[in-house]
Amino acid sequence: MAVVRVKPGCSFRTIAPAGFVILSTLKAITRELSFDVTITSACDGAHPAGDGAQSLDPHYTGEAYDLRTHDLTPLQKGQLLTTLITRLGDRFYAFLEAPGTGNEHIHVQRRRGTLYTVLDYLAA
Ligand SMILES: [Zn+2]
Repeated sequence: MAVVRVKPGCSFRTIAPAGFVILSTLKAITRELSFDVTITSACDGAHPAGDGAQSLDPHYTGEAYDLRTHDLTPLQKGQLLTTLITRLGDRFYAFLEAPGTGNEHIHVQRRRGTLYTVLDYLAA
């Protein structure tokens, strides 16, 4: 059975309700698609928020994850991204970051400007 793997050193010190949704959706998708997916970044690493406010970066608030794409075929990459976008719905956002470069990965997060509370999580 395919599983979600985690790169050593990845920090999950905070997981927000939206983060739980992303993780459980990823787990279900991985099983369906039958290939392993590796989380390369959670709360760790440098993720500039663009405005210097590091605390606002969704990685630091437990609402964003990076997924390795280098070990996936182009077909698997497309399947993973499309399924994530479809399953998570419009309160989430996923895209292929830095395509074709050494830093290529899928970044998935709660969509900016939206709120996802524990009540939303429990109701979903
Ligand atoms: Zn990211």
